[in-house]
Amino acid sequence: MPLPLKFLDELRAIVGVGGLVTSDEGRLVYECDMHTFYKGAPDAVALPETAAQVQSIVTLCRRHGTPIVPRGSGTGLIGGAMAARGGVMVGLNRMNAIVEIDIANRCATVQPGLINLWLTNAVRELGWFFAPDPSSQMVSSIGGNVATNAGGPHCLKYGITTNHVLGLELVTGTGDLVRLGGAVSDRPGYDLVGTAVGAEGTFGLVTAVTVRLLHAPEAVKTALASFSSMETAAEAVSAIIAAGMLPAALEMLDEVMIGAINAGSGAGYPDKAAAVLLIELDGPRAEVEAQASRAEAICRERGALEVRVARDDAERTLLWKGRKEAAGAVGRLAPTYLLQDAVVPRSKLPLMMRQLAEIALRHGVLLANVFHAGDGNLHPLICYDDRDPDQLARAKRANEELLEAAIALGGSVTGEHGVGFDKAKNLPLQYAPSDLNFMYRLRGVFDPDRLMNPDKLLPSHPACGEGFRPQRPVLPADTWI
Ligand SMILES: Cc1cc2nc3c(=O)[nH]c(=O)nc-3n(C[C@H](O)[C@H](O)[C@H](O)COP(=O)(O)OP(=O)(O)OC[C@H]3O[C@@H](n4cnc5c(N)ncnc54)[C@H](O)[C@@H]3O)c2cc1C
Repeated sequence: MPLPLKFLDELRAIVGVGGLVTSDEGRLVYECDMHTFYKGAPDAVALPETAAQVQSIVTLCRRHGTPIVPRGSGTGLIGGAMAARGGVMVGLNRMNAIVEIDIANRCATVQPGLINLWLTNAVRELGWFFAPDPSSQMVSSIGGNVATNAGGPHCLKYGITTNHVLGLELVTGTGDLVRLGGAVSDRPGYDLVGTAVGAEGTFGLVTAVTVRLLHAPEAVKTALASFSSMETAAEAVSAIIAAGMLPAALEMLDEVMIGAINAGSGAGYPDKAAAVLLIELDGPRAEVEAQASRAEAICRERGALEVRVARDDAERTLLWKGRKEAAGAVGRLAPTYLLQDAVVPRSKLPLMMRQLAEIALRHGVLLANVFHAGDGNLHPLICYDDRDPDQLARAKRANEELLEAAIALGGSVTGEHGVGFDKAKNLPLQYAPSDLNFMYRLRGVFDPDRLMNPDKLLPSHPACGEGFRPQRPVLPADTWI
């Protein structure tokens, strides 16, 4: 149902004429994130510039019972920043300032719309960096990273976003502005920062974030090893970890992906290889040198076809260029792709790779693989043409099967991208009804009216009534509280 004119006038009064998008073509831009299976344009998009404006938007929407969908850069891969029930989307991109850099206390406070990489760019010359580095770091926002608890290639060593968030300012679904945590560690009380990171906008809108900054390591060494099979590459990964090393990154790419990257980015990966492993070590120089030799020896013992060690920053950047541009390179293979995110225990990687190949064959879809091999976090890209209903249907079936395969191997339906709309239906595969109920009640503390990003993160509750429903039934109504 379109929003009443009076409501839109009030919204305009909060964010100004230039801060409100209501035209059909304007709203279309916001109809999905990077998971294009799910589309839902908001009835209006509000672009606030201050936390006070965010609070006024929430108060207004609450008065009218209008759903609110937060949005950062829209690079999410879970159907999170998508208006499943319409309502008001709140784009936080205008709130993109660095509020404070506090090197003495090793932290910085930023607004949510700040692009991830801009923070590292701002402190690099001082010798510092912000560790969470999703491959989308050139475009994704820190607010979106917090909301999805984003990971990235270097999270194997440095941890994911939650390990780097010290404090949050949050406008909850009740319209309250609350400050959780802060620059000083060891605060008394509940760890509400930990609870709110990864809430995917279901608790409220993050309006400021205080993050940890890390000092750049003395030395970094990056190597590329190529293999004749995914299995041998996966064995090398396990052997490197078993040898007691904790590389900063351990990334793996398959043959399809190597071909797309070489055609698209000129990264010059070995084109006869069935698998490429990128290994990055960082830390004190002497330790890095010793570990690099050990890692190279392990790869050769496991039958590596070639091991290239970058000699300088330029060569290092070139090795990473292919990996960082992998998703874009897949545009050469098909008009549309779904970049999935699932986890299996590292030792199950070879088996999972075989199952992925079988799923691709069974459904006649092309799969390209790039993944964070160090922590068993897979990113199969299902390539298809969404203009062809048959291809879309096959891609959807392959998508569900690969998630089920990950669970069957003792893994998880999401590693770092979050749950969103896409995987809310899959959570009952992983959690008991009592666990889901507990999460649902926790959500109600922050958002009692269930207006914040409805249908995301948790399966739809029967009490939500009519409206947009997941395609599959989730839990019988009597299993809910
Ligand atoms: C090519 C590519 C590579 C990627 N690589 C990685 C990777 O390596 N690791 C990884 O983890 N992810 C990766 N992603 C996924 C995505 O970039 C991350 O999930 C990122 O954190 C999303 O940030 P965003 O600003 O685009 O958020 P959006 O997509 O706009 O939103 C994501 C979710 O967060 C909520 N949200 C956004 N801002 C706020 C806020 N201020 N307050 C409350 N809720 C908010 C939204 O409602 C939505 O549910 C990749 C995506 C692409 C396209």
